[in-house]
Amino acid sequence: MDQQLELLLEIQDLRMQRRELTDGSTDLEAEVFDVKIEDAIRLLDEKVEELAERLARGIRDRYRRIADKAPRVVAPVINGICYGCFVAVSTARASEADRNLRVESCEYCGCFLYHVG
Ligand SMILES: [Zn+2]
Repeated sequence: MDQQLELLLEIQDLRMQRRELTDGSTDLEAEVFDVKIEDAIRLLDEKVEELAERLARGIRDRYRRIADKAPRVVAPVINGICYGCFVAVSTARASEADRNLRVESCEYCGCFLYHVG
């Protein structure tokens, strides 16, 4: 898999974890374990930023544009459908062999594409 795409997936994963921390559903557990949510969020933000710095410039710029607007930056593509916007993406660009070997983005919603099936 393309290294940049791996980074993007890692970033997305951390952003999702951060979101779970801020949506309130983890309050109870956090109290039990005496975890400081703000500290965790700050650490996640730092890690996301650190990873984003490792993205190639063009990809980082695109990432920032998407990240500002939506929680999701990478969308899975399953059977030729982008699950960020549920529109069929042109699969001609992604033959079986070179899927996920380079960074692509959806021409409709702008998400980076991760081919799953
Ligand atoms: Zn899309």
